[in-house]
Amino acid sequence: MPSNLLPPCPMPQAHKRLMDCHAQWHALQESYFCPDSFRLALNTFLQTHRSVTSLLLKHKSNLPKFQDWFSEYDDQAAKTDVMRWAKKSRNRIVHESDLDLNSSCHVTWIGNWHNRQEVKATFPPRMSVSEIIEAIKNSRGMPPFGTITIRRRWVDGALNAWEVLDAAAACYMHLNDLLRAGHLAAGVPRCDVEGSYEECVDSSLTDASGKLNCMHTAQSELASHFSVPDGVILDGVSEELEIDEAKIQASIERYKIPEFPDGDAIARVPGMMAVARKVMERDGEHGTFAFCFKGESLLTIQAMRFDSQRVKILSFERLADLVESTRADGVLVIGEMWMALQTDREKELGTVLFPARDRLDRMEVLSVFAVTRDGRQAETVCFVERGSSGEARCGEISGIDSGGVMNTLIPVRRKWKEMESRGL
Ligand SMILES: [Zn+2]
Ligand SMILES: [Zn+2]
Repeated sequence: MPSNLLPPCPMPQAHKRLMDCHAQWHALQESYFCPDSFRLALNTFLQTHRSVTSLLLKHKSNLPKFQDWFSEYDDQAAKTDVMRWAKKSRNRIVHESDLDLNSSCHVTWIGNWHNRQEVKATFPPRMSVSEIIEAIKNSRGMPPFGTITIRRRWVDGALNAWEVLDAAAACYMHLNDLLRAGHLAAGVPRCDVEGSYEECVDSSLTDASGKLNCMHTAQSELASHFSVPDGVILDGVSEELEIDEAKIQASIERYKIPEFPDGDAIARVPGMMAVARKVMERDGEHGTFAFCFKGESLLTIQAMRFDSQRVKILSFERLADLVESTRADGVLVIGEMWMALQTDREKELGTVLFPARDRLDRMEVLSVFAVTRDGRQAETVCFVERGSSGEARCGEISGIDSGGVMNTLIPVRRKWKEMESRGL
């Protein structure tokens, strides 16, 4: 809708400032490897951020039901660690000095699903991720297999549990929610304000939890992965898909799917298997997709592509990041997998020595499995038989223990635990 047809903004000054905050968040991300610009961008962000609430207070007499929505914010969001930090930091910058920023680097080594180590390393702040990779490659004492992920981190001494960019994103989202409540109270879900960063946000205030997709993507770009044995940089690990209702509807018709299942991640497992079988029998293949849920609503879909066990593990690590960004509480994965029965030796050792994909006795299965943050899980597989010209026939659905597909969700479970410890 052209903005001149939209109703006037009930709080144009504050709303414009929020849009400035968005642009400044991106400036902060873009200056990540340049300490001086980063400090400057953070100071700007925090001051603009503060002025959003000051402007609301200044104009409160013109704002419908101001007390109701503002005191709700004041009682809840304003009391969170990040918002208290943002407020204090702004005062510190204005009246005292710069923040106590330090740049560290998280190096995560991943051997397999169960074997993972995270160490904090110190590299000069100006060193880019690719320079750090070179330095690590040239150093000794690295395990000879697995992958390494490098992630730069800025942390303020006054908010140790949070990475600064992440904290800034959380602050931005709290203000977004505050302004959204104010707009709804005025009966204007979308106003006529025009902003400075329109490739990401327009005047509609999102009701997404966590952070915006553009923020998630921008932050993912700050990490880099490489495979240890050959030193190859692994990128393009997976991609998030926009949920396009029209496309989903078109597929439902094309595949003659009776209806798209609803409910939470667990409740959708049988229905999604029915859908997957149709796709498999029609197309002869099925991609791997992860669906993130908040309760019964579908938040996002991630397409996953991996041609090696290493990239597979990283893809699920990245899924765990997406779970944090969207604050999802349920995940469902659907895809074609290789499956192999555990050997006697493996049962004895309680492990899997060779991933199913590398084994001769592997079987092709279509698999749908889900976990929720409250600890439930569900899993179903069906065997895929191939006809003489490769056409797929889906066998009986079975609830057998598929020996490890659930392993893929270890990074998501770890993430939920870690979020718990930060009060998210
Ligand atoms: Zn507005
Ligand atoms: Zn953006």
